[in-house]
Amino acid sequence: MNIGVIAIQGNIEEHIHALSHAMKKEGINGRIIPIKHRGIVPRCDGIVIPGGESTTLCRLMKREGIDIEIKDAAQKKKPILATCAGLIAIAKKGGREAEETNQELLGIIDLEVERNAFGRQRESFETEVAISFLEEPYNAVFIRAPRITRVGKDVEIIATLNNSEVIAVKEKNIIALSFHPELTDDTRIHQYYIKLINQQP
Ligand code: GLN
Repeated sequence: MNIGVIAIQGNIEEHIHALSHAMKKEGINGRIIPIKHRGIVPRCDGIVIPGGESTTLCRLMKREGIDIEIKDAAQKKKPILATCAGLIAIAKKGGREAEETNQELLGIIDLEVERNAFGRQRESFETEVAISFLEEPYNAVFIRAPRITRVGKDVEIIATLNNSEVIAVKEKNIIALSFHPELTDDTRIHQYYIKLINQQP
């Protein structure tokens, strides 16, 4: 199993760390490959797009030609895990801030998002949430998190905050989270993602 982590910007090492622990726990042998340039995404069975700063992330993915490769991987139904800024990068539509900064989003998941929507007081917080595929609650870390303002009809909601705010979704093999699973020692989400890759034909 080859998992590519887009290594342009953001929490790259943290995702690599979480993935390698998750692989061990699942008893799966595989490689985790940091991706900075084009040509590697097509050789990966799954792609992780970390959080960070979505404007920079989008700009550099486009410059490197990785954006097209990710779109192609999504079409081939390769499992993709996108977190925080990664979620913004793959959404169909950004809100006012995205428009003002001319963000070119990948549009591979039918979501509309608003960047930095939780406001200053709550720029960073953590809270326990229920995630549909996990039996026990998960401590989710939010850092200047985006808000999901519209969810397409084929998109499954897998977690909410206070029963209202959508914070995690899945469409086909794409999982998008507005929080940071790579910043805790709890690897259950990465384990679920690895199992998803393992189930692919
Ligand atoms: N606020 C960041 C952005 O827009 C995302 C924050 C994060 O990934 N932690 O792009």
